[in-house]
Amino acid sequence: MTRARSITGTHVYSYVKCPHLAALDLSLPRSERRPGHEWEEFAKQRGRDFEAQFVAALGVQAPAYPERDFAAGAAATLALLRAGTPYVHQAVLVGDDRLGLPDLLRKIDGASDLGDFHYEVLDVKTSGRMRGDQVLQVVFYAQLLAQVQGRLPSHGGIVLKDGREERFRIADYTAACDEVLADLRRLRDDPARSRPFLQGGCSSCHYDHRCLPELTARGDLSLVAGMSRGARAILEGVGCRTVDDLAAFHPEGPRARGHLDTAVIRRLRRGAEALRAGAPLVEARPKSPNERLGQGALVHVLTDPYAERALAIGVLHPATADGRFAVALPAEQDDEWPAFERLIGELPARAPLLHFGPTLPRWVEGRAYAHEADPAVEARFVDLQKRLTGAAVYPRAVFDLPDLVRFGLGRDPLRAGHHGAAGLWAQQADGSERLRAKLHTDLLDLAELKARILDAAMPVAEAAAPAAAMAPAAKPPA
Ligand code: SF4
Repeated sequence: MTRARSITGTHVYSYVKCPHLAALDLSLPRSERRPGHEWEEFAKQRGRDFEAQFVAALGVQAPAYPERDFAAGAAATLALLRAGTPYVHQAVLVGDDRLGLPDLLRKIDGASDLGDFHYEVLDVKTSGRMRGDQVLQVVFYAQLLAQVQGRLPSHGGIVLKDGREERFRIADYTAACDEVLADLRRLRDDPARSRPFLQGGCSSCHYDHRCLPELTARGDLSLVAGMSRGARAILEGVGCRTVDDLAAFHPEGPRARGHLDTAVIRRLRRGAEALRAGAPLVEARPKSPNERLGQGALVHVLTDPYAERALAIGVLHPATADGRFAVALPAEQDDEWPAFERLIGELPARAPLLHFGPTLPRWVEGRAYAHEADPAVEARFVDLQKRLTGAAVYPRAVFDLPDLVRFGLGRDPLRAGHHGAAGLWAQQADGSERLRAKLHTDLLDLAELKARILDAAMPVAEAAAPAAAMAPAAKPPA
């Protein structure tokens, strides 16, 4: 009989992102994962470098053991803990069917089976703020540590990329961790309990090459724009199982529609119709008399979130394919704000600044106080992400700009590269050209989305007529 695979802290971390991801990790060999993209490998290496740099300053000790011999690793770890080593790096903690490899164990006061001291868990992350998945991973390690030292540490900590330590009470999260662990065991014993659900994280998941074709072949309801897990379960429960079923779904009465709201059914059915048509359905919407998008300029920024840098800032004005493109590639952080002010200063004083998503406002917000920014500039921001997702139903669930470009325009959103690679390009000889090309391509895509989706809105009177409620946008080229 083969031995059940150990549940690790990584499974806990993955489960929070997607239970199916944890189920696949527990049941498939690593060779089934797709190879990492170059920017993903770059980010991982940065994480390893940051951890190595952080622990080097602490004078840590690590257990020595033959590769993958975790029993030997656990014994070597116990020896270090009994000796009262101040910091243990990459300890091995083993318990029943669990295996934990925490980044750091730190010695603190308070009696335990080890002596008049015990240990707590620290994990080193490259994120700027603490997240729930990171907390649960530390709690998982703390529970294993409790078996070794005979007491549960009261607190755990996450070291963030600026070296700050965020602390939290272990007891506040043990029930949640126990629940996750119980479900992980069920998934390990019966992987068929889970199945994919299309979500924003799929595009960066090492199983996207498996799940996306599977969802498409099955006509899975999660492909439909606006679908939630709960709505999928309810619809399947009333016999509406595929995109084709949903496109023809006209239930009679609340029971037949699983008591879902009729407005929800109508919206989801439109998503299924768009998916079958292969083109976005533009929603009729009244134009506000104050709407001045036509006078706006597109503003876009490529960032390196880890380094908290704006690597390329670009403007397209007017916001059309033949608008004037201007770009700045600030070499240093101190150059970023003057470059932004110069670009904005070249635009008409009251032109709306059309941007996509939270990246630009967050970047400005982080610098506005230090640079005594004119609040009138932020007041001119118009988020196209909200406008574009509200103005049409797309032929698949869309989560970010690449999705909108692919499913709104039928263009390859990565033809000038992936925005996540900006930090990598900045270190390469041809980085300036790649950043410039990517920024210009994104701006042209935004201009085209604006033209096809937002400028296709009908006048108020027409929009009010029910028959004119939807208009298909031009079908994207295959
Ligand atoms: S591709 Fe998506 S559904 Fe599949 S395991 Fe990854 S996150 Fe989950």
